Amino acid sequence: MSDPVELRQRNDVIVVDDVHMIYRVGRVGVPALSGVDMTIREGEFVAVMGPSGCGKSTLLHLMGGLLSPTRGRIKVDGTELTSISDSQRTEVRRQKVGFVFQRFNLLPTLTARDNITLACQIRGDGQPSNGLNATRILALLGLENKVHHKPAELSGGEQQRVAIARAIISRPKILLADEPTGSLDSENSGIVLDMLQELNIRYGQTILVITHDADVAATAGRIVEMCDGKILNRVENLYYTKEQKRLY
Ligand code: ADP
Ligand code: MG
Repeated sequence: MSDPVELRQRNDVIVVDDVHMIYRVGRVGVPALSGVDMTIREGEFVAVMGPSGCGKSTLLHLMGGLLSPTRGRIKVDGTELTSISDSQRTEVRRQKVGFVFQRFNLLPTLTARDNITLACQIRGDGQPSNGLNATRILALLGLENKVHHKPAELSGGEQQRVAIARAIISRPKILLADEPTGSLDSENSGIVLDMLQELNIRYGQTILVITHDADVAATAGRIVEMCDGKILNRVENLYYTKEQKRLY
């Protein structure tokens, strides 16, 4: 089990404080979140579970600064997203957040490596500062032979690994993954999950993953359950590998 004292001493990467979200569709308000509080600390691997439509993706988009809440506050690595301008929020997102989505969102005409280097250029990194270049990170994810392949020449699992590589190459403070195994068969889901777990354990990558999949949740250190725009309960995951026991 995690050592609660040690975990409390780690920095908060994300703080969600009494967040409400109502989408406006014409004159109608569609409530998506009703008073959500959540803190994610450095090095945590958190799974968010819950039925379709309960607000999981909305929460992830808010945490990554892709949306602004109707009410409440969200802090990312100490910066309050809710009190800065749109362009400042974009900057925080670029520097601190990596996203992975169910549909891999790779550019079809670019190779695996170019999909990753383009992301660095867009972020203005040029060369990532951590010494990880696109080729090395692809090797780390078991794709050393697929560097020059385009998305159509890769399996779903391989495409998702490229998307993960693209999301983490600049070592974001947090990796936000929305149903990352939702389009994959069980074998590829397993591979992607192993990768996420390895990134968390070996490299200390903080990860929040939204999932329907109990296997994904079992990989995480903590499960947060949502229903109807609220958090139901927090279950400290009882399943820990030896390595995780050491770290948590
Ligand atoms: P989940 O990811 O758990 O399936 P979402 O966060 O996507 O849930 O959606 C929560 C609620 O907000 C749902 O009722 C959904 O229909 C609504 N919703 C999501 N996105 C929008 C949007 N862009 N405009 C209007 N309503 C939306
Ligand atoms: Mg969703």
